[in-house]
Amino acid sequence: MATKIPAAQQRMFRNVFICKCCKSKIRADPKKIIEGKITCRKCKKRAFRTVRKK
Ligand SMILES: [Zn+2]
Repeated sequence: MATKIPAAQQRMFRNVFICKCCKSKIRADPKKIIEGKITCRKCKKRAFRTVRKK
């Protein structure tokens, strides 16, 4: 059966952020990113960008 749901995938993709410093991917709620609750596991910085940018 179909395991891929376009809407869900798109939503997941949206929620993926990339650390500007070490470029590691982190999946998190955008709200939490904005609130500064999410920190990078590697460098512990809060500089994230979305995947789609560029
Ligand atoms: Zn990092």
